[in-house]
This record gives sequence, C-alpha cells and structure tokens, in this order.
Amino acid sequence: MSGHSLASATLEDRAVAIGQQVADAAERAHRDPAGITIVAVSKTFPRERVDAAYDLGFRHFGENRVQEIRQKYETPLPDDADVHLIGPLQTNKVRQAIRVVDRVESVDRDRLIETLAAELPRQERTLRVLVQVNVSGEAQKSGCTPEEAGSLVRMIADVPELTCDGLMTMAPYVDDPETVRPVFAQLREIRDRLQHDTGIALPILSMGMSGDFEVAIAEGATHVRIGRALFGER
Ligand SMILES: *Cc1c(COP(=O)(O)O)cnc(C)c1O
Repeated sequence: MSGHSLASATLEDRAVAIGQQVADAAERAHRDPAGITIVAVSKTFPRERVDAAYDLGFRHFGENRVQEIRQKYETPLPDDADVHLIGPLQTNKVRQAIRVVDRVESVDRDRLIETLAAELPRQERTLRVLVQVNVSGEAQKSGCTPEEAGSLVRMIADVPELTCDGLMTMAPYVDDPETVRPVFAQLREIRDRLQHDTGIALPILSMGMSGDFEVAIAEGATHVRIGRALFGER
C-alpha cells in the first residue's frame, strides 16, 4: 500500500487530523477545546464538498464571494449550519449577501454598516457580524485600523438588527507561523481594551488559518478559519 500523502488523504482523514491538532493546541494553551470553532473555508469548492463536511460534523462554512455563495447555497444548508462571509463585502452586494449568509466577518467601514442597517429591516432579518481589523497594517489587506475598531463596534451596537460579538483578522502569509504571533496577540489586546471601554461583550476572536491556526489558538482564537488543510489545495 502506498503511504498516506496529503494529496491522497480523504476529507475525513484531514478532518480528524485537524480536529486533533486544534484540541492539542487548546490543551497546550490550557484552554477547553470545546471553546474553539472550526470555520471550514469552502470557497472555490463545490457544494458536494460542503455537504460532505457537514456530514462529518462541521457546522460553519467560510465563503469569500457573494456570487459564489448565491449559487452554492441556492438550496439552503440545514438550519443548524452557518455560512460566514469572510471576504470583503461591497455595499452593492449587501442585499444579495444577507439573503444567504448567517454572519459577516468582514465589517470594516461605516458605509457598510449604514447599508446593512438600511437593508436588514427590509428583509426582516438580523445579522451577526465581526469587525475585521487590519492589525499588521499590510496595504493589500482589508480591515479597519486598530484605532477605528472602537467607533465601528459602537456604531454597530446602535443598529437593532446587527450584533457585533467579536473581531476578526488575517495575518500576513509567512513561512514560520511564529512570525505572526504578535498579530494575534494584538487582536486579543484590542478586543480586551474595546470590551473594557465600550462595555460591549466581544467574546469571538476569529483568527488563524491553515498555516497558523495553532499559534492563533495559543493567543486566544475562538474561531479558526481553515480551508486548504481541510479541503485540499485550491
Ligand atoms: C481563504 C481564507 C481563509 C482560509 O485560508 P487557508 O489557507 O485555505 O486555510 C481564511 N480566512 C480568509 C479571510 C480567507 O480568505
């Protein structure tokens, strides 16, 4: 028999391996593994892969394009599954997006909040969101500055249809995940400060991807967004 290369590993093999790595990372950080949610990033993968992951127990799916979401989830997932929009949201796509997504992780500017606030009552919907912070300051990354995060969180709190319960960040792509540990630590510090200053509960820290989720868990991630390590290369 040939060895178990990553390429030949099944979705189930990878799911088991990642579940174990998440649990191990949690234990090393003296955290309860049950406090960490895996968002299976299914962008570019067909609906059948999402359904297969659902059957393996995944309940959170990350997508980054509204057009793709509309097509892929034309038949909705079961009620206990959530689609997370993790990519940038243009205001002209808001109407379509909120028909299908359960959470937007990428709220990063006041115009977007205003558009959501106008559209949600029309669709008689509520929406959970995260504020995306560009901690590293990389020019090509979306997300607000750490300084802007507070006013966005407060602005969302004034919209009855919106709930902001945490922050999201994307670390730069690097070979050694230890390099980006300070990015994750800073998001946690920003969260702690905002929670203290605003009195708004922000329990969720969505940070860490296939290459760096173990470091993110060590720094307090409650949601890790894992694509390639679960579904294979895109
Ligand atoms: C694609 C993507 C991920 C997942 O990245 P992988 O390297 O495939 O795990 C996580 N977060 C965001 C915002 C993404 O766009």
